[in-house]
Amino acid sequence: MKRKSLAIDMDGVIADVEAHALQIYYERFGKLWTKEDASGKPEKDLLPDGYFRKFVLEPGFFRSAPVMDGAVEALQKLQEHYDIYIVSAAMEFPLSLPEKYDWMTEHFPFISWRNLVFCGDKSIISTDFMIDDHPKNLDHFSGQSIIFSSFHNFDINRYPRINNWEEGLILLTNPLSPLLI
Ligand SMILES: [Mg+2]
Repeated sequence: MKRKSLAIDMDGVIADVEAHALQIYYERFGKLWTKEDASGKPEKDLLPDGYFRKFVLEPGFFRSAPVMDGAVEALQKLQEHYDIYIVSAAMEFPLSLPEKYDWMTEHFPFISWRNLVFCGDKSIISTDFMIDDHPKNLDHFSGQSIIFSSFHNFDINRYPRINNWEEGLILLTNPLSPLLI
């Protein structure tokens, strides 16, 4: 049987850019801000006064982001079953391209550069599955969409949801998974 293909987003899915921004905010201003404080708000309002956007535009932001918990182990296992493509709308932040490439090489060396897709609009992607935290990317996807939980998407109910990579692994590899039956 032909291996199925799986597109996986970077920011908010395998790269915890939100935790990264909260940490920078704390280090710079001494104020503890949490994802709970931003729950239900749009992504750009993660931090007060537009600081999330400001941090994202700073050189080095993407290169130093922490890996989402369990992502390395999960992708290693998923690669046994799927052709994995890391798909990032990185053109929104052109300076992030080399940073994201270096970040992938450091943390996910088992994913070939051939499987990295840095693009502007994800509607061109035609894999069998897509995992993303933004419904705007999932809404125009022709395959099976899966939403990765984030503080800004809790009200979205139209896709199967995974709250973490442990759940992602089960949903995509357990033979009893509703997506695989
Ligand atoms: Mg994302």
